[in-house]
Amino acid sequence: MTRAWNFSAGPATLPVEVLQQAREELLDWRGIGASIMEVSHRGKAFSGVIAAAEADLRDLLAIPENYRVLFLQGGQTLQFAQVPMNLLAGRSADYLITGTWSQKAYKEAAKVGKARLVASTEDNGHFTRLPEPGELRFDRDAAYFHLCTNETIHGVEAHEDYEARLFDALSAAAPGVPLVSDMSSHILSRPLAVRRYGLISAGAQKNIGPSGLTLVIVRDDLLGRAAAGTPTILDYRNQADNDSMLNTPSTFAIYVAGLVFKWLKARGGLAAVAAVNREKARRLYAAIDGSGGFYRSEVDVACRSIMNVPFRLPVPELEARFVQASEAAGFIGLKGHKSVGGIRASLYNAVPLEAVEALLRFMDEFRAANA
Ligand SMILES: *Cc1c(COP(=O)(O)O)cnc(C)c1O
Repeated sequence: MTRAWNFSAGPATLPVEVLQQAREELLDWRGIGASIMEVSHRGKAFSGVIAAAEADLRDLLAIPENYRVLFLQGGQTLQFAQVPMNLLAGRSADYLITGTWSQKAYKEAAKVGKARLVASTEDNGHFTRLPEPGELRFDRDAAYFHLCTNETIHGVEAHEDYEARLFDALSAAAPGVPLVSDMSSHILSRPLAVRRYGLISAGAQKNIGPSGLTLVIVRDDLLGRAAAGTPTILDYRNQADNDSMLNTPSTFAIYVAGLVFKWLKARGGLAAVAAVNREKARRLYAAIDGSGGFYRSEVDVACRSIMNVPFRLPVPELEARFVQASEAAGFIGLKGHKSVGGIRASLYNAVPLEAVEALLRFMDEFRAANA
């Protein structure tokens, strides 16, 4: 068996230990004579699995008691609609556009109700920066303020200091307006001050587990505001009242996510995981910046993503050759998103430092042969 060095943006690599445990438990989950995906979601076995997953997640993120954790389906893309359906309450919401995903969120919200564009950092199709929070004009009456704290395609991330400044600026200019973020591609990559947010959501397939599961962490005072006519299953209140079991949840994905949470705890929790993540990103950006211009990051140093590192080569032909050669050398997932081209290395929690070291060796060799 060979596992490739996997830098896929999503669905992405999972920890080997988690896959091994899932394999061991696949035919007979702890003596029940069936896998966990073959038994009732309301039975004792799965009830224990989902409860443990929630408890471990709460532990990892230090989620305050007045927040509910929902295990939903439909991906982050459904959240782009579900968030305004539940939170607009006839008002308008503020949207910040810093890349493809926040742009999609804004467009979807505008279909559901009223969405106001606060600012967009788009520059000729490029997104390379974050606006200074103090310069944003917030709507005091907004139902919420929405952003994407890690733009997976462009590699623009709101780091901890930016989150804090945004929260302070919002709290000062528009007291009580909740922050809402799509954290699909960086949730669990570092400790997080959940209390700054009214709602956090994430598709699982980047840093949590398999696709088919969508995580929502929502402050309980925001439940029960869904617009009249909101389908039963899309009302967060109903999902919270039914412990995410209004209907059959994505049981296998929740089980694997639970194993990932245990794996993160065994590694020392998010502060320890964050230190490794920072080191992986530091080395890759250093290699890019130290390549004499052969490799190039377009993103402002202050908001370069720790999780998704897009970079360019001098010409598109070289980028295509890089992708081809990397695949021949045993790497997968390095091709940039089709909308932007270039190269992208995603450095999620399950990507080990050795994978980055192997990538750096490959990048050196490729540059020596092609510069
Ligand atoms: C992948 C991704 C999405 C889309 O998620 P789906 O689960 O495929 O709908 C949305 N936002 C961000 C930041 C992402 O990384």
